Amino acid sequence: MPETKRRKIVQRYELLDDSEYGLAPLLDALACLYNMPIAFVAIVNENELTIRAKYGTDLVSMPRETAFCNQVIDTAQTLVIEDLTQHERFRSHPFVIDEPHFRFYAGVPIKIEEVVVGTLSLIGTEPRTFSSQQIQMLENVSTFISRHLGFISEHTQLKLEHSLLDSSPAVLIAWRYDNCLQLQSVSKNVRDVIAIDYQHLMEHDACFEDFLTVESQQNFGFWLQNHLDGVETAECHLKINHPARTVWLRMLSKAFFHANGKLRSIQAIITDNTSHKYMEDRLSETNKQMRLLIEASGLGTWDWNVLADSTKVNKRWCDILGVDHDFYDGTSQFWRERIHPTDLSHVDKSLEDHLHGIADSYNATYRLKHGNGNWVWVETYGCIVERTATGEPLRLAGTHRDITERKEAELLQLKQSQLLAFVNKARAAYLVDNDLPGACQEILPELIDIADSQFAFIGQLVQEEGRDRLFIHAISELSWNSASEKLVELYKGRQLYFDSFDNLFGEVIKTGEKVISNRMKVHTSSRGTPGGHPPIFSFLGLPIYIQKRLVGMIGLANKAEEYTQKDVAFLQPLLDALSGLYYAVELEQARTEAEERLKHWAMTDSLSGLSNRRAFIDYCRGLEHQRNPYAIAIFDIDHFKAVNDTYGHEAGDKVICYIAKCMREHIRTDDFVARMGGEEFALIINNTDQMNAHKVLESIRVYIESHPVEWQGNEIHVTVSIGANWYDEANSKVLSRHLQEADRALYLAKNSNRNCLEWFVQTSSTPCNDQNQADVVDIKNAQKEQ
Ligand code: GH3
Ligand code: MG
Ligand code: MG
Repeated sequence: MPETKRRKIVQRYELLDDSEYGLAPLLDALACLYNMPIAFVAIVNENELTIRAKYGTDLVSMPRETAFCNQVIDTAQTLVIEDLTQHERFRSHPFVIDEPHFRFYAGVPIKIEEVVVGTLSLIGTEPRTFSSQQIQMLENVSTFISRHLGFISEHTQLKLEHSLLDSSPAVLIAWRYDNCLQLQSVSKNVRDVIAIDYQHLMEHDACFEDFLTVESQQNFGFWLQNHLDGVETAECHLKINHPARTVWLRMLSKAFFHANGKLRSIQAIITDNTSHKYMEDRLSETNKQMRLLIEASGLGTWDWNVLADSTKVNKRWCDILGVDHDFYDGTSQFWRERIHPTDLSHVDKSLEDHLHGIADSYNATYRLKHGNGNWVWVETYGCIVERTATGEPLRLAGTHRDITERKEAELLQLKQSQLLAFVNKARAAYLVDNDLPGACQEILPELIDIADSQFAFIGQLVQEEGRDRLFIHAISELSWNSASEKLVELYKGRQLYFDSFDNLFGEVIKTGEKVISNRMKVHTSSRGTPGGHPPIFSFLGLPIYIQKRLVGMIGLANKAEEYTQKDVAFLQPLLDALSGLYYAVELEQARTEAEERLKHWAMTDSLSGLSNRRAFIDYCRGLEHQRNPYAIAIFDIDHFKAVNDTYGHEAGDKVICYIAKCMREHIRTDDFVARMGGEEFALIINNTDQMNAHKVLESIRVYIESHPVEWQGNEIHVTVSIGANWYDEANSKVLSRHLQEADRALYLAKNSNRNCLEWFVQTSSTPCNDQNQADVVDIKNAQKEQ
């Protein structure tokens, strides 16, 4: 027998404890019954035997090695020595040889859990014999003592547990059930823990349920019914009907049943749950307030179990999306497939950043598809609220706020400022070089972008030969197939016009009204997408007015969503700006035309319609820079004063006009004729030689001479004198000098009896080269030959 095991049992059963075994009466009885002077119970204590109950001796302990009992312990057998003086081992024991002269020993082992922990011994001073019956009885008593020691230990333990329980916050209660509950026991702490008087409960035959509120009595009834129905363990919350304070109980119970299944008894542990219940109520109240707050604030809430991929959402969450709460399936797929494709990546990034601990929270603003097909802007805020044992995110919860209105207002504001920016850009581009098509082409991509469209054009109405044409300043899509190459060329050459208005955009021109068509096929004016053009499924045409006059239009096609009145209002500043630019172009054109007219008037003689002196001088200045030879001739009507005097001033005017006509008809387009003032004309003959010029001048003179002017039935005969001067590189001079010289020749003609042509001839005072002199002689000869 290992000593350790024995020692452990002795310790566990507290056999060496100071507590009273209560065996003294038994030992008295044994000593008397067996007629023995000494009886005792000894327990093994290391190398000693400690006497724990005794009769007839004062001994407290004895060393194991000398004790008679030790043989019983070592052998675990009953030992009876009828005469110690005859015993081989103990005959020389001091207690045998000397006082008190022991002569008899009987000992039986005391066993606990089959281990010998001590002995029950009887000692006599006279040799004795023991019958087997006596030995058997002694052994029975030992067995009884063993059990007794076990009970004592258990009792001590129970007492300890009870004392612990009495100071614990849990009340133990037990009922028997025999047609009704009968209270069997309750721990004494019942008063401290749940404010029920122990005495009152146990001694006055009160029922536990009498202490409960009416409502809790009902709950108690349900609880009992559960056990009656066979439920083994149950939990129930009860409230004590206490005048001074509110006490909530939590009762955990276990039922025991008869073999036939009927309820036999119930044991329960009751704890004061008041503070917990109070917190629970507070929490529930707070939750309720939160719920009301969330509902009032219009927040949608979501709670996503990441691992199970199931999400709980509130009704508002579904309302924001226009989906029925009952049909929401709770998967993240349901939510993800409604996210706007453009926004998906930044939503994912924000979510991933939070899940991986990069960001403290998940926060995103994005679009979700509403049940009615529109996009709703939501602002979401959430964070991890629960993690797995290994720290992985388990639950993520947050809110959704519908910010569509705010976002749309923001976007509108942004788009409006973008619109104004590019309208200004168009104005600036136009001001730089007055190039309106260039300005329109520059802003077209931004127009398409800002109007969320795919195609666009900007057109201006022009009148040509009495019909309207739409000149295309800028257009987005032309090169869709080989057939459209011609259009591309026209567009590049700024020659692209739309002439047919029997179509959807033509409706704008014909009616002067906006055209909105989100279902092209059903619009009566639609002639479908032009052949080869990428499909057009929606169209917005807006007229451009200068005051009340239609001057152009813009066309937009294929908006991601539908075109609405909002687009019309939004684009109005652009239409106004284009109207302003078109107006500026018109003003510029009008100004140029007026300038042209003024210039014409300033350079034209009003009577004859010929160029005037100023125009003649301008023309001649131009000639100063060219090297080609030319003739300059001055015509003067002979005796014109006499015409005025004879027929009147009007007749004189008619003669002036007639001479002008004659001169115009006799010259070529690259010659130049002007009325220099009064009855004097000048003529420049270009690209010829002097001989030919002479012929031309002579032919005019002869024609005038031979064709009188009709005036009120009279014929007015007039002649002209001509002074001419030849210019070539050899006699290169300034214009004024040439005119002077032609004038001098005219003077000669007048002096040569008029009605003749004189060429300026260089004299000694007017130096001239020989060639010039020779040419003049040739001309004179030719004249004579005629
Ligand atoms: P000569 O042969 O020397 O040139 O004689 P002339 O009479 O033609 O020349 P003169 O210089 O003496 O007279 C020119 C006249 O032309 C004087 C003027 O009244 C007249 N005259 C000038 N301008 C106009 C005009 O616009 N209409 C008319 N009817 N007469 C004009
Ligand atoms: Mg004159
Ligand atoms: Mg004259």
